[in-house]
Amino acid sequence: MEKRSIAISLPCTGDDEWQATREPLASGWLTQGPKVAAFEKEFAKRHGVGRALATTSCTTGLHLILAAMGIGPGDEVIVPAFTWVATANVVAYCGATPVFADVDRRTNNIDPADVARRITPRTKAVIAVHLFGLCADMDALRASLPQHIPIIEDAACAAGASYKGRSAGSLGLAAAFSFHPRKSITTGEGGMVTTNDDRLADIADMLRNHGASISEEQRHKGPRPYLLPEFNLLGFNYRMTDLQGAVGLVQLGKLDRFIDERAEWAAFYTQSLADVDWLLPPLVQDESRHAWQAYVLYVNPEKAPLPRNEIMERLQALGISTRPGTHAVHMLGYYAQRFGLRPDDFPGARDCNDHTMAIPLHNRMARADFEYVAAALHSIR
Ligand SMILES: *Cc1c(COP(=O)(O)O)cnc(C)c1O
Repeated sequence: MEKRSIAISLPCTGDDEWQATREPLASGWLTQGPKVAAFEKEFAKRHGVGRALATTSCTTGLHLILAAMGIGPGDEVIVPAFTWVATANVVAYCGATPVFADVDRRTNNIDPADVARRITPRTKAVIAVHLFGLCADMDALRASLPQHIPIIEDAACAAGASYKGRSAGSLGLAAAFSFHPRKSITTGEGGMVTTNDDRLADIADMLRNHGASISEEQRHKGPRPYLLPEFNLLGFNYRMTDLQGAVGLVQLGKLDRFIDERAEWAAFYTQSLADVDWLLPPLVQDESRHAWQAYVLYVNPEKAPLPRNEIMERLQALGISTRPGTHAVHMLGYYAQRFGLRPDDFPGARDCNDHTMAIPLHNRMARADFEYVAAALHSIR
C-alpha cells in the first residue's frame, strides 16, 4: 500500500464560507450583529429550543450559564472525570468547586450512579458531557438527582445529536456547544448557549455583553444619545463576531450532511474492524443520534499485541494521526494537586484516559483513506 497522510480531523470549509464573510466585511458590521442573530435563530430552530446565544467558545458559553445561575464560592458542581479540561475549569472560574464523578467505560460518559454518591447540600448543578457526540444518559442522570439540582449539557461535541428523539441542547436547563475546528461545524473559535429558560437567557445575554442592560426608562422613552446602558451585573465580553456568525450560518446548513457522512464512515470502521478482537468500537444507540465528533476506540490492554501508545506510534509511522480520546481531568496537574486526587480515585476515567484512541474521521476523507486506516489497524500484530 502506498503511504498516505491522514489528519485526525480537518474542518470542512471552503468557498461558501469565504463568500459569506464578504457581506459583513463590505458593510462594516463586524461584531455581534445581524449575522449572529440569524445564526442564533437557525441554531435554536435546529435544536428545538426557544433561545440560542452565540459566544466566543463553548468554554465561555458554559461559564456564562454558570454565572447566570449565580454559581459562586461555596457551591459545588459535579462534572465527569473524563472530559476536556474546560468542563471543570468553568466551575473553578466561578470560584465554585468542581466535584468529579466517574464515567462509564463503555459510553465514556458520566455514570449516574456515581453522580448520586457525590451529591451534597452544596451541589448546585451537574454538567453532563455528550462526549465525542454520544449523548449522556440524561434520563438515568435525571432519575439519580433530586429535582432541585439542574443538569447543564456540555454539548461541545454534540451539534445535531439527539437522545431518544430529543435534540442535544434541549435536554437540560441549558447547554453549550463548540465551533472549534476540531468539532463537526466550525466558526474558527466560537460557541452557542441554548436554553428554554427565558430568565436565564436574558441574564446570560447581559453577561455576555459586559453586563449591559437597557433600562425600562430608556426602553419606554426611546433612545437618548446621552444615555449609556446600565451595568448592574459583573459581565464579560463573550460576543461572537458577525464574520463568525456568517460562517456559522453556512456551516449549520451543512451539519446534517456532515453527520450523515460521518455516521456512514463510522459504521464502515466498526464493520471492518469487527474481527480485530483487541479493539472495542464506540457504542451506538438505536434510539439516539450520535453526532460523530470523533470515532474513539477502546484498546483492550489484555488483548492488544502492543500497548496503546506503541500502536499510536506505529500508526503515526504509517502517516495516520491518532489521539487519546481525551484526558482524565483528575489526573491533570492542577486538579490532582489542588484536590489531592490520585489516578485510581476514578478508575473508569483512568481506564478511558489510558486506553482510548481516536482515529481519523472528518468530512475531507476519501474512501481510500478509511480503507487505509482499517488496513493499518489490521496490520498491527
Ligand atoms: C472542545 C470541548 C470543549 C471546549 O470547547 P471550546 O469551544 O474550545 O471552548 C469543552 N468540552 C468538551 C467536552 C469539548 O470537547
